[in-house]
Amino acid sequence: MKPKRLAELVIAPPELKSQLQRMLDRPHPPQSLLLVGAPGTGKRTLARAWVAGWLCPQRTSEGHCGICEVCTKWSETGEHPDLRILAPTPDQIKIDAVRETRQWMNFAPAVAPFRFVILEQAHRLNPAAANALLKMLEEPPDRYHFVLTAPASDLLLQTILSRCRVVRLGRIPTDELARYLMSVRGLEEGEARAVAELADGAVGNALRWTEPPAESETETDSKRTKKSEPTPSELESLRALLSLFEDLSRAHLEEALRLAERFREICKALEGVDEERSARSALATGLEYLILWYRDSIAVSGGAHTVRFQTHLDALQHLSQRFSSHDRFGDLQAITQARRAILGNANAQIVTETLFARLLSER
Ligand SMILES: [Zn+2]
Repeated sequence: MKPKRLAELVIAPPELKSQLQRMLDRPHPPQSLLLVGAPGTGKRTLARAWVAGWLCPQRTSEGHCGICEVCTKWSETGEHPDLRILAPTPDQIKIDAVRETRQWMNFAPAVAPFRFVILEQAHRLNPAAANALLKMLEEPPDRYHFVLTAPASDLLLQTILSRCRVVRLGRIPTDELARYLMSVRGLEEGEARAVAELADGAVGNALRWTEPPAESETETDSKRTKKSEPTPSELESLRALLSLFEDLSRAHLEEALRLAERFREICKALEGVDEERSARSALATGLEYLILWYRDSIAVSGGAHTVRFQTHLDALQHLSQRFSSHDRFGDLQAITQARRAILGNANAQIVTETLFARLLSER
């Protein structure tokens, strides 16, 4: 995968981007950087862009030059002699991979000024691998540096954490994300807006959903190919979910069971597109979108600009006129409880049917 230039990325919060860019002006990178952010917030893309900046002998605060010999090495082959990327296979980073990397670390950088190890999903290091990594972090050879990524910092050993400079990625505002999708993906405004609303600020998800087929075919990171394939069905499923919420906002009580069934079917499809997603976490994801929907129905009274799903404004206004805000606050609580029950061991059919019947009963 050809790395993007740091300056071309959208990163939240904005001051984070200038911070990372200013680092590139210094003579040396920090020893170890940990990128923390929810799934889909672009940690992987950012790690590569930032590392590409340091590997380029002609780097500027904008990132790597993209044209020198060192940069083109990466672009042509998808690999770089001075970079190692460790990722879970399939769900753990094992000690063998860390040991092999330790061997590689016996040599000086081949072409770049530094050598980097990127550890994706560092929380998936198994205990032996985590201890081996810790030794490397404690006594790194000269000109070797590390970038780790994880969804949350408290998933890592405290001893690893204390050796890293932690950078926390946030969510991109919907308007900004929509503008970015228009510029990098050439989407028209309405389409870009709809995708940005569904991405909920996670730029990595938005880019993955709108990836042109050609780009993923040239994907050479074999370990991650499965996850990087275009998954229009995920976007389609999320759209189906929003269209279900529209129907729900206008439906009668007797339609509750049918809608609950459709909801479970859509969540089933969401489960299918992500190998790491369980049936329960797919249902929880569906309910998280329902929480956003009900939050929006409450925000509607504050003016359209406060609403996330602006492309569904009519249905949201309908919902807000149909039930009092007191009722909708109660509903929001009920959805949150249903989500918790699903993540526990509750029966998904009973929970969703009870919930949808409640949402549709006139009070
Ligand atoms: Zn370069």
